[in-house]
Amino acid sequence: KRSQVPDYLEGLNAEQRDAVESLDGPLLVLAGAGTGKTRVLTTRIAHILNTKRAWPSEILSVTFTNKAAREMKERIGRLVGADVESMPWLGTFHFIGARILRRHAPLVDLKSDFTILGTDDQIRLMKQLIDAENIDEKRWQAKHLAPLIDSWKNRGLFPKDVSPAESAGFANGRGAALYAAYQARLKVLNAADFGDLLLENIRLFREYPDVLADYHNRFKYILVDEYQDTSVAQYLWLRLLAQGKPASAANLCVVGDDDQSIYGWRGAEVDNILRFEKDFPGAKVIKLERNYRSTGNILKAASSIIAFNEGRLGKTLYTDVGEKGEPLSVTSVWDSEEEARTVGDEIENYQRAGEALNSMAILVRAAHQMRSFEERFITMGLNYRVIGGPKFYERKEIRDAIAYLRVVSNPSDGLSFERIVNVPKRGLGDSTVQMLYNASRSAEVSLLAATRMLLETEELKPKQRTTLRELIGQFDHWSAQLQREEMPEEKELRTIRSGIPHWELAAQILDESGYTAMWQADKSPDSPGRLENLKELVRSMEEFDTLGSFLEHISLVMDRDTLEAEDAVSIMTLHSAKGLEFDTVFLPGWEEGLFPSQRTMDESGRAGLEEERRLAYVGITRARKRARLSVAQNRRINGLWQSAIPSRFLDELPADAVEVTDTGSSYGGYGYGGGASSRFNKADPFESVYETPGWQRARAQQASRKSAGPMTIDGDLVARSVDIGNDKSAFTFGER
Ligand code: ATP
Ligand code: MG
Repeated sequence: KRSQVPDYLEGLNAEQRDAVESLDGPLLVLAGAGTGKTRVLTTRIAHILNTKRAWPSEILSVTFTNKAAREMKERIGRLVGADVESMPWLGTFHFIGARILRRHAPLVDLKSDFTILGTDDQIRLMKQLIDAENIDEKRWQAKHLAPLIDSWKNRGLFPKDVSPAESAGFANGRGAALYAAYQARLKVLNAADFGDLLLENIRLFREYPDVLADYHNRFKYILVDEYQDTSVAQYLWLRLLAQGKPASAANLCVVGDDDQSIYGWRGAEVDNILRFEKDFPGAKVIKLERNYRSTGNILKAASSIIAFNEGRLGKTLYTDVGEKGEPLSVTSVWDSEEEARTVGDEIENYQRAGEALNSMAILVRAAHQMRSFEERFITMGLNYRVIGGPKFYERKEIRDAIAYLRVVSNPSDGLSFERIVNVPKRGLGDSTVQMLYNASRSAEVSLLAATRMLLETEELKPKQRTTLRELIGQFDHWSAQLQREEMPEEKELRTIRSGIPHWELAAQILDESGYTAMWQADKSPDSPGRLENLKELVRSMEEFDTLGSFLEHISLVMDRDTLEAEDAVSIMTLHSAKGLEFDTVFLPGWEEGLFPSQRTMDESGRAGLEEERRLAYVGITRARKRARLSVAQNRRINGLWQSAIPSRFLDELPADAVEVTDTGSSYGGYGYGGGASSRFNKADPFESVYETPGWQRARAQQASRKSAGPMTIDGDLVARSVDIGNDKSAFTFGER
């Protein structure tokens, strides 16, 4: 009998195996970091396929990132040799939502080639609406109102659902009306923002029960990773899709960890975990407690920090990785430059010892921290990649090029048309664009269609009419080539008919539009880089079958995938590191205000602090073997130097799992009153040695600058005594 157990089940522990094999009815796997939740999901899919309970296309599986989706597909492929390309419903909420929406676009007033708006498009659109609605632009800025609409969408609210009280608080009391206008405008533009990808799905399912029933039949199993970070809208969406069966029989499996809920600021609700057991009565709950990822010291440190949180469901974790491993290291450095230098040197040492760069990552709290690492690594010639940082696809030249391609692919994409109508300069200024807009709004047609209409009238000046006519002619010409290329039934004819592949078309568009020439003529130092990026863009298009699938990809991806094959250190934010693991993890910038982030604490108080602490837990638990923390004594924020107080999270680490080092370049003139051993040099107090943990010393330093009151020690020295909280006091010398 034993020999019949498929390979992929071997090696799972009893609870994991239970989770893989409990295929009927709702299941919640609630477990700490590194316990194999994602592995359980992957194995479960393999098991479903292997036992022929469903076809690959009948499994809906939600991952948190595109990268995770890719990895999951690969693993499933390895486990059961399934054709992973035939798993069309494995991806992020956005990916799956977009896919469903395209199939039924007309039912929600869109065309199937609708554009997915990025954040900057969204803000541009909001600006136009604020103008049009005569809302005070100074008081109600587009960049604040756009996130507001996002947050309503995350909560599953349509314009009609926004309560009058809440609506009254925004945009001169017209919050909900503005939201409605925004939605109407999106339809005219044939566009959806990220929130719509789910919200319009929900509307579709509610208004067309037959469509929903179709999906009920299709999806035999639904699985969700990182469940603790689902928003209300995502939860509603899942619940609708799971409703094909009575709640107690729904084949919905969710896995998560309440301690890793880090997207509260984006509308995620940990309560969805509690809600699950209520909405799906009789749900089986499985806890996994054995951590397979990290060493004892890493786990001890992570557990110790997270224990300071009050709002927890509570779990135990133990590791069998064996030895306790290296202690965590906390290094005190002078500033971010020294921090980058130190980290860079350590990486080189590990590399010399034979470790792959791919096995190391730097996880920052805030994107601005990335710059000093990037600069240092460039100087050193160290290979790195930035994930989720200032993204390739957000650079100006890339956005412009994509705008051209979008108009070709979707002529009603007015925002893209507006973006490039006068790039390169064609003498079509703001007033012309405004005219086009007015025409588009009053006729309720797309910007491009409105332009065509205006060309038939006398309203435009002759010069502009000629220019616009030429531009439109070019777009028609490009679109014509595209259609030939994308019609599958014409595939064979294509070669004969000289239709060109979409990447060649892209290169052609950039040349014929004058866009390439614009950067060639530009003498600024970054134009060669921009031309390089454009080439890279065209190259990367070759990986896609159609222009449509390429554009879909760039609307959805967060990371720059193209470089992944190379050996390189990853630099990313803590938020985007969720679910990943590395042998060595560098965690720079553990300073008050930066981490925990002052903004989060200001906005959300105690709850915000707890979310920051979960982020610390996520960060440390990414490490398999080593976690190397650092704290700078000075940091430049918004161009201003500030002396930094070490993060309170450092005080929450267990002393016996941590080793503190100091790079020595910081000035050691501070003592710590809490029982630290100090060798006080009476003759020259400034040469005193204080054997105290570096971060505590720096903390005392900072505290002393805030408090006042000179004091005397040993009768002849001026020092300051300060209360640094936690019933501890510190003293500081060196105030000559
Ligand atoms: P996170 O909460 O960080 O997302 P997770 O619970 O999803 O973590 P996984 O990423 O699935 O955990 O697993 C962590 C590591 O442990 C992976 O490298 C995985 O391959 C390994 N692992 C999990 N289960 C086992 C097992 N039974 N035997 C050996 N290794 C395992
Ligand atoms: Mg996981």
